[in-house]
Amino acid sequence: MNNDIDKILYSSADIQAEVKRLGQQLAADYQGKNPLVICILKGAILFMADIVRNMDIPLEMDFMDISSYGAGTISTGEVRILKDLDSSVKDRDVLIVEDIVDTGRTLKALSDLLKQREANSIKICTLLDKPERRVEGVDVDYVGFQIPDEFVVGYGMDYAGHYRNLPYVGILKREVYENN
Ligand code: 5GP
Ligand code: MG
Ligand code: MG
Repeated sequence: MNNDIDKILYSSADIQAEVKRLGQQLAADYQGKNPLVICILKGAILFMADIVRNMDIPLEMDFMDISSYGAGTISTGEVRILKDLDSSVKDRDVLIVEDIVDTGRTLKALSDLLKQREANSIKICTLLDKPERRVEGVDVDYVGFQIPDEFVVGYGMDYAGHYRNLPYVGILKREVYENN
């Protein structure tokens, strides 16, 4: 285990089992709809790659980088588009794939934007959900795991750009970010 990790919350095997369950449910729900599956960069890349491999239906993928965070652990409430989609969402059934829903600000802003762009339907699939921290009401349709209010890294999720490649989700030692 990486020395900066306090505790592993979900092992690679835990994650793969949950991703398989979610992928099969999504495949059933989106059968015949050719959904546009949108990966929110960069945190959701590993989750996206695994979830689509468990969705045995025709679909398309696109990528967007939208951020309410700087390098730190506190949301500013400000959402910026760093990289927009390549494709049009008009009349598409859109599935947003996100790493973690925290305050909900990022997804609220993104859902509003995709509604303005006239998506036919918008659903959200997140690996992790921290319901205690919610500020904006957002409907999260598919959730892998609900977690307590701890700062986690791994399986795509970073602190200051690091730890995304860890195959598990772990709680970062407080000393790693409290001294910065
Ligand atoms: P929200 O707008 O819901 O507050 O923030 C959502 C985004 O903040 C997530 O998609 C994620 O990128 C980041 N975030 C929130 N909580 C955590 C966490 O515990 N660990 C990491 N690495 N990122 C987080
Ligand atoms: Mg994210
Ligand atoms: Mg981040």
